Formats: sequence, C-alpha cells, structure tokens
Amino acid sequence: MVKKRFATVWLDGCSGCHMSFLDMDEKILEILEYFDIVYSPIVDFKEFPEEVFITLVEGAVSSVDDLDKIKKIRKKSSYLVSIGDCAITRNVTSMRNSFKLADVLDCGYLKNTDIHTELDKENVPKLLEKVFPVHEVVNVDYFLPGCPPPADAFYQFIKSIIENKPFESTQYTRFGK
Ligand code: SF4
Repeated sequence: MVKKRFATVWLDGCSGCHMSFLDMDEKILEILEYFDIVYSPIVDFKEFPEEVFITLVEGAVSSVDDLDKIKKIRKKSSYLVSIGDCAITRNVTSMRNSFKLADVLDCGYLKNTDIHTELDKENVPKLLEKVFPVHEVVNVDYFLPGCPPPADAFYQFIKSIIENKPFESTQYTRFGK
C-alpha cells in the first residue's frame, strides 16, 4: 500500500494541541500504517512538500510568517484541518485584538524591561495588526475543537478519514451528548 502524506503545523498556539496529538501514544503507530508524517514539529523535515493528503493546523494566524506559511500549505494540502480552539476561534491568542498592535509590542518588549530601549525589528516576529482564525484566511475542510482536542478525538477523527466514515466532533465537547 502506498502511504499518503500527513502533516501537522504549529502557528500561534501553545503546543498543547500537539501534546494531545502525541497522547494517542501507541495508536499513532496504527496511523503510521496509512500515512507518512512528512512535516511536523515532531519530525525533522524542514520543507513542506507537495501533495500532502491531510494537514492538521494548531494555532491562530498572528504574524506575517503565519499568513505566508498557511497560504502555501493550503495549496499543497488536499485537506486542511483546524485543530483546537486557537485555530478555530483564535481563543487566548486574540486577547491582544482589544489593543493597538503598537501598544502590545511596547508592553511586551519595552515597558516591562530595562534591557531594551527600542524594538528589535530584526528579531521580533512581524505581527499582523489582528489575530485571525485559520478559516478567515484560507479554506478549512474540517474542524476539531477543544483546548486541546482530547487524544481520542484525534484518533477517532483520523480513523474516520482512513475509513471514509462520518465523524461527529461535538461528542468530544461539552456540547456533545
Ligand atoms: Fe494551546 Fe488550547 Fe490553543 Fe491548543 S487550543 S494551542 S491547547 S491554548
């Protein structure tokens, strides 16, 4: 069997969604019977390849880099999946949306430190004026909510893709039955 390509991406999130993905433990081995993980924080490949079957995205779109990356990844992925509330609603990452970007940078990098007197524009990531959920900047095929989604939600979702069966994510949220 030719394995399909599988990727995960970490944008503006805390990595908790990836930790939960890893909490599938030995069930990841089952998934690897069907997929090769070709790009992810948990593997060492640096370039996002062509023709990825499914890409899981953790985190919101907060920086110029995030935006550039997710647009390229969208073009190379058959299915894009927003995993976790930061990717889906912006969640905690959007707390800064209530403030002007200049004030956020000032507070984060200057006001509370006596080391820097001006913003290090070379090394501080270029932030977008506001934080966006992934589906507001590119088309998203599936949503897996939770902060983070539980490991079993990852497992059952990926299994449903493999078996081409329907998947109901609400059973893993407080809105489920
Ligand atoms: Fe972290 Fe929760 Fe955001 Fe996932 S949804 S990146 S666990 S804050």
